[in-house]
Amino acid sequence: MAIDFTLAPEHEEIRRRVRDFIRGTVVPAVEGLDEETAATTREEYLRVIFGLRARAREEGLWLPHMPKEWGGMGLGHVELAMVQSEAAKTRLGPWILNCAAPDEGNMHTLLHWGDDEQRERYLRPLLEGAKMSCFAMTEPEVAGSDPTLIRTYAVRDGDEWVINGHKWFISNARRASFAILIARTETDVPEGSRGANTAFLVDLPQEGWNDVREVETMHGSTGHSEIVITDLRVPDGAILGGRGNGHRLGQYRLGPARLAHCMRWISQAETALDMMVDRALNRYSHGSLLADKQGVQWLVADSAMELYQCKLMVLHAASKIDKGEDFRTEVSMAKHFVAGSLNRIIDRAIQVHGALGYSTDTPLAKMFQHARWARFADGADEIHQMRIAERTIAAYRATGSTSAATGGLPL
Ligand SMILES: Cc1cc2nc3c(=O)[nH]c(=O)nc-3n(C[C@H](O)[C@H](O)[C@H](O)COP(=O)(O)OP(=O)(O)OC[C@H]3O[C@@H](n4cnc5c(N)ncnc54)[C@H](O)[C@@H]3O)c2cc1C
Repeated sequence: MAIDFTLAPEHEEIRRRVRDFIRGTVVPAVEGLDEETAATTREEYLRVIFGLRARAREEGLWLPHMPKEWGGMGLGHVELAMVQSEAAKTRLGPWILNCAAPDEGNMHTLLHWGDDEQRERYLRPLLEGAKMSCFAMTEPEVAGSDPTLIRTYAVRDGDEWVINGHKWFISNARRASFAILIARTETDVPEGSRGANTAFLVDLPQEGWNDVREVETMHGSTGHSEIVITDLRVPDGAILGGRGNGHRLGQYRLGPARLAHCMRWISQAETALDMMVDRALNRYSHGSLLADKQGVQWLVADSAMELYQCKLMVLHAASKIDKGEDFRTEVSMAKHFVAGSLNRIIDRAIQVHGALGYSTDTPLAKMFQHARWARFADGADEIHQMRIAERTIAAYRATGSTSAATGGLPL
C-alpha cells in the first residue's frame, strides 16, 4: 500500500506559485477592499478584482479544477485540495482563480452533462471568465434537503417548456448570464421518485425570471436571490443532461463541489487556529501568557486535532474521486466533519480573543457569520448522517462488517 502525502515536484511548484500569488499579490491588493462598505466604490472594486483575474490567467493559475484541454490546470482532486486551500486564504482567492462556487460546480456539470453546443455556448464563456452562472434548485415552500419535493413545474407546450415556480437563495443570480434551473417535468411518477426533475439552461435576464430581492442574511445582503418564475419559456434544447435526470445531475454536481467547499473551509479553519495561537502568545493574564494556561491549551489542542482529521478526510476522499472509486460516504463524512470543525475552531478563536474576537476589528466575526451556513447548505448535517448511517448498516448487512463504510481502509 502506497501512502505518500508529498506532492510531485511539478505540483509542489504549482502550490508554491499559488501561495506566492495569493499571499504576495491578492491579499495586499484586496486588503481594505470591501464591496459591502462605502469605503470602496463599485468601479474601484471591479477594477482591482478583474485586474487580479487577468493576472492569475497570465500566470497560468486559472481554472485549477478543469482539464488542460479546456484551458484548466488539469489537476487531480488531491492536488486541487492544496490549490483550493491556498486560494481560500482570502475570501476572493477562489474567485480570482476562477474556481469559486457556484461557477465551479456548474463547470463540472456542463462538462459532464452538456452536449457539444451547450458546452460551447455556456461552458466556454464561464471558462474564459467572461460570464457567470447560478444554480437554481432550492424553494422556500418545500424542504431543500429533499429535492423530490420541488414545486417549480415545467410543462411542455409544442417545442417549448413553460416554467412556473419560486426559488430562493440562488447564489450569484444577479451577476449570472445563465442559470441551471431544476424543475419538475414528470407528473406520472410515484411521489419521492428521483426521476421527476429536469435541468434547464436558462439565459438571463429573461422575461418570466423575476429576481425579486437579494435575501438579507446573518452575514449581510449577499447575492443570494429570491426568484419568482412566471410563464418562463425555454426551448426543448435547453434541457441539460436529459429529461428526468435533474436529481442525478444535482447529486453529481454536489459530490466534488462539496469537497471543494471543504478544501476552502480547511484554509479558513487554519487561519482561525493561527490567530488563536498568536493571541495566546501575546495576551498576559494571572501571571502568565494565555498560551501557558491549560484551559487555553485544550482549545488549541482540540482545534489542531480536528484540523488534522479534516485534512486527512479531505485528502482521502479526494484520492477516491481521483481513482474513480465510490466516494459518496467519504465526501459526506468530510463535508459534515469539516463544516462542524470550521464552526468550532472559529468559535474557540473568538473565545481566546475575548471582546476583540467579538468585535469586527479582526476577521473572526465575519468568518463566523459566513461559516454557519456550512452546516446545512449542500446537504445538512443530519442528511449526511442519515446517508452515512444507511451505508454503514448496508455494509454490515452485506459483509457482516462495517469496515467498508469507514473509508474502506485496510485496518
Ligand atoms: C449561503 C447559501 C447559499 C446557497 N446557495 C444556493 C444556490 O446557489 N442554489 C440553490 O438551489 N440553493 C442554495 N442554497 C440553499 C441550500 O442548498 C439549502 O439551504 C439546503 O439545501 C437546505 O434546504 P432548506 O434551507 O430548505 O432546509 P430544510 O430542508 O428545510 O432543512 C432544515 C433543517 O431540517 C433538518 N432536516 C431536513 N431534512 C431532514 C431529515 N431528512 N432528517 C433529519 N433532519 C432533517 C436539518 O437540520 C436541516 O438543516 C444556499 C443556502 C445558503 C445558506
